[in-house]
Amino acid sequence: MTERAYSYELSRELSAVEAHHFSMTGKLQKKDAFECNDCRIPLSCTKWGEDGQRYYFYPSTKVEHHMEGCTYASDRDITDKIKKEIEEAITIITQTGIIVVAKSKKYAKTNKENSEESESKEKRTYQTSNSGFKNQAQNKKLTALATFVELYNNQEINNEKKNIKVEGETISLDDYFVDVTDGHLIENQNRIFFGEAELSAFMSQKGKSEILAINFVDSDYPPIYSNLEQVKKRSNTRNIAHLIGKESVLIYFRGSLVEKDGKKKFEPFNDAFYKDLYSPEN
Ligand SMILES: [Zn+2]
Repeated sequence: MTERAYSYELSRELSAVEAHHFSMTGKLQKKDAFECNDCRIPLSCTKWGEDGQRYYFYPSTKVEHHMEGCTYASDRDITDKIKKEIEEAITIITQTGIIVVAKSKKYAKTNKENSEESESKEKRTYQTSNSGFKNQAQNKKLTALATFVELYNNQEINNEKKNIKVEGETISLDDYFVDVTDGHLIENQNRIFFGEAELSAFMSQKGKSEILAINFVDSDYPPIYSNLEQVKKRSNTRNIAHLIGKESVLIYFRGSLVEKDGKKKFEPFNDAFYKDLYSPEN
């Protein structure tokens, strides 16, 4: 349900309305010659060469969803992705398979300053074959934090079974999820930490960006900080920004607790905190 995408045929970003118009005039030929301008997954345009009510781009393949942290993914894209991941996960679990917690592939999003230069150097190519993604599906790698939360809370799933692989370690959902009020701290292990938290925002020291602070209630774990603007930008974390100032809300964070310079702090599983935050609340 993305409104805008990059067109291989025109070598620029355009809206779905524009793309549709060009499909009618013949300026554009292929309905699937688009990619997400943020996370670079293949996209197709709806109502190609025919009249419709609404035009938008959707993922071209069933296995490639917008990546964690993609700013172009709509609420619907995220919901579809999680639904698909849960279906896959349940199938794997019932077949005694293993679910691999996969990092969101790093997509090279260039800085505004040098994007023009790098875009011209880097050739974006259109491939009709999706065969390259088959392996990914067979490996049963799942990425969305919300998927694992759903699985953990699903009554029909046995949370004691060791079927989750995180960074080479095979554990159960019960091992994977850590209640932050549990008492002893779990260090240097990739886990999903969860609990009631109070959310606040403050200006960074340099005054350049607003920081979201997540303080777990009745917990010895340190606070989690993330760039508030980035949290607000994304469909899967936007609701968290709206929870600032509320009494206490349920927060899930995926990452590990590490000690640096004598201080304990959290590190995200992916390359940014906003890719590893989730709250079911609104
Ligand atoms: Zn995307």
